[in-house]
Amino acid sequence: MSDKIAFRTNNWDTEDKELDRSLRPAGFREFSGQDKVVDNLRVFVKAAKMRREALDHVLLHGPPGLGKTTLANIIANELGVNLKLSSGPVLDKPGDLAGILTNLETNDVLFIDEIHRLSPVVEEYLYSAMEDYTIDILIDKGPSARSIQLTLNPFTLVGATTRSGLLTSPLRARFGITCHLQYYNADILTDIILRAARILNVSIIAEAAVEIASRSRGTPRIANALLRRVRDFAQVKGDGTITLAITRYALDALNIDKHGLDEMDNRILRTVIDKFHGGPVGLSTIATAVGEDAGTIEEVYEPFLIKEGYIKRTPRGREVTPAAYVNMGISRYKDPELLF
Ligand code: ADP
Repeated sequence: MSDKIAFRTNNWDTEDKELDRSLRPAGFREFSGQDKVVDNLRVFVKAAKMRREALDHVLLHGPPGLGKTTLANIIANELGVNLKLSSGPVLDKPGDLAGILTNLETNDVLFIDEIHRLSPVVEEYLYSAMEDYTIDILIDKGPSARSIQLTLNPFTLVGATTRSGLLTSPLRARFGITCHLQYYNADILTDIILRAARILNVSIIAEAAVEIASRSRGTPRIANALLRRVRDFAQVKGDGTITLAITRYALDALNIDKHGLDEMDNRILRTVIDKFHGGPVGLSTIATAVGEDAGTIEEVYEPFLIKEGYIKRTPRGREVTPAAYVNMGISRYKDPELLF
């Protein structure tokens, strides 16, 4: 059995989810980073409040763990309305959606996570709800079946997706506000870790926070989870304070990549290097080789690998950079053809 503890971007246990909730910022002021998105949302929320109208529908897209659910919470808090949470795969029948929509109070926020996974019938149902706050429901069966139109309270739909490319254009067109969340830089992640440490009531030295930040794949959810794991080591192996030495010890013991890459990132890089001589290789070929959906690689994994300079896009496909070889501890000089 492997002793490797995998920190996969998409895979979080219940404990992590609990932690997520306790550390989740409640207002724009506590939300660090994503300045442009936050500045715009502040204006739109304020304007909607002044007009006492529902905020326009908001689409949040970006990789997992960057704050989409958090922003939906904040939007509802700042508007002073209720938030109802659901997700694309859960809403599999129009009746489920109708039940939620008819229970919304004026200007409430409905958050639908993974909105790209809504079934086509449910999605179609959403169109009239989003556009003019009405839905058609079918009553009775057989020959006496007829449809009646219900008027809903005005509401705001906040949709979140990691795969904006999978959204149909009619659905995308119904969102008045679209925000793309970016990976966080190490400075902002450091602030997020220091804030989380305060909430968890654990003492941490600044250098340790910087170290955790640099290994968190630009993702607050990972930063928070690592903080808690390191806190355990500090308690058991030290005096409770998270020092730089304890942090390095803990992160190494947990097999956390020095550059913040997760298991799938490493698998992608290793596959391109080992099987395709570093590329160029087409996205769908990489996807088949690593056993992941091509769109997920393109929208969830690749942006980080490109941002960190491990992969580049070329007209002939994806190519790893010298930095990827260094990171993987592989020398390109073994094969004279691979000299760079
Ligand atoms: P997503 O919905 O995009 O997968 P979440 O909103 O669930 O991500 O965020 C995961 C966790 O990361 C949250 O519980 C929150 O504690 C933390 N987090 C995300 N963004 C920020 C931020 N900008 N500032 C502070 N904490 C954040």
